Amino acid sequence: MSTNDPQQQMIRDAMQAIAQRKPGKTKLVYDKTKRTIVAVAEGSQTPRALNITADDADMFAVATVSSVWLRQNWPQLLAEGNVRCQFSSWDDGDALTQCNLGPLPSASVAQAAIILAGGGASVDDVTLRIDLKPIKEAEATPSDFVAPDGTWYRASGSNSEQSVSTIFADVQPELATRRSGILETTILADKSVLLIGLGTGGAHAALELAKCGVGRFALVDRDRLSVGNVVRHPGGISQVGRFKVRVVRDLILEKNPDAAVTTHVLDLNFASKEELKKLIAESSIVVCGTDNRPSKLLVNQLCIEANVSAIYGGAFRRAFGGQVLRVRPKVSPCHQCFVAAMPDEASDVEISSSSDAADIAYSDLPVAVEPGLSLDVLPIANMVAKLALTELLKDKPTTLRALERDYDAPWYLWLNRPEPATPYSDWPPLSESSDEMTINRWYGIYFDRDSECPVCGNFLSNIAANYGLNLDNFSVPQSAAGATSMPVPTED
Ligand SMILES: [Zn+2]
Repeated sequence: MSTNDPQQQMIRDAMQAIAQRKPGKTKLVYDKTKRTIVAVAEGSQTPRALNITADDADMFAVATVSSVWLRQNWPQLLAEGNVRCQFSSWDDGDALTQCNLGPLPSASVAQAAIILAGGGASVDDVTLRIDLKPIKEAEATPSDFVAPDGTWYRASGSNSEQSVSTIFADVQPELATRRSGILETTILADKSVLLIGLGTGGAHAALELAKCGVGRFALVDRDRLSVGNVVRHPGGISQVGRFKVRVVRDLILEKNPDAAVTTHVLDLNFASKEELKKLIAESSIVVCGTDNRPSKLLVNQLCIEANVSAIYGGAFRRAFGGQVLRVRPKVSPCHQCFVAAMPDEASDVEISSSSDAADIAYSDLPVAVEPGLSLDVLPIANMVAKLALTELLKDKPTTLRALERDYDAPWYLWLNRPEPATPYSDWPPLSESSDEMTINRWYGIYFDRDSECPVCGNFLSNIAANYGLNLDNFSVPQSAAGATSMPVPTED
């Protein structure tokens, strides 16, 4: 916007006069009847109405203060007259955001002081000062703050050049309000999700669940974010080199600073089995987005033993489609049953060599950048998050109960395109089909549990029946969850 505009200049002069607490040539006054701000210029009889637009309101920098932090530091402010803190300075100082609000500060940090009116102490060494003055009548503007003793204060900020609009962020109530439209606010705060595999799909699912208000996360992955991942992973170029579990933890905290997130840089194998068991036992649900069969089967076995439901998501090669399997232990088919019933479908996401790995987008191993690859993974990540959400809401009052009818099948299939040389290559175009299968639709597919499944089936009973044994005469070692402990299946 041009500062040559006389109206802009009047506003600027008046705001600067206010910031410097000295009388200027122009005063800004709110005219209640006209519901607008008017400028009263020195020597002028009639106030001049200013059409203040949203753009004008954005003319000055905005400082956002954490009211939670200020309440915590209120005793120090009372005792010393001011408290020091730091603000992320974004966009050449246009937005100043208190660092305590979230985990990711800006590269440029401004030193600030919050000063109580009449506090006295010298604060010449700061870039940003925010003055708090007591007010009698609470209008509850964004610049108003309620102290722990119930007193109301109004904040006004300034730096060396201009006044800085100051607003308070009450993060938790605000986020809960936003969520209430789509979900029952904080009912998922006590739920815990274990995410194993934080490639593109797993990371997106984690963030969606954070937006739903899930309160606790455990993140397992062994990889670091690479430059090649960035085109599809939620982590950005500034985060390259960090372990994915830590990148995703910070992204979750950016959505919900009150979430409890633990990170575990782990390879999934026998050595990590005990740690994995412990994490599964503490979880409401497990989301598995790993890219190979042995790790999925290990997670499957441990989840069945612990009686914890799990969602397995994966994209087919080059993300031409994907599938999601939901396992309710001893109720629906497990991943081992899936492999036995549909070895081809179950193997489509698998890696048997490093050259295979290079073709599989979901693995986040280096692949050629293709337009839309991330777009093709997102429907699958979205379904994983939705199925997880439905499971988490099972024991909660929810308006989403009706979804249980639609999410009844154990296995879900999605195609992004009729990939040549696949069973789906001759699917009809989207526009022509009303009753045939097409791309861009979810299909819920039923299949049965394998009664002889070594993980979830009546394996021992069947052996006993085949050999004419009476199991009552045998004692079987039981795991903590009461399920029969079986050896971990190895790669076939
Ligand atoms: Zn099974």
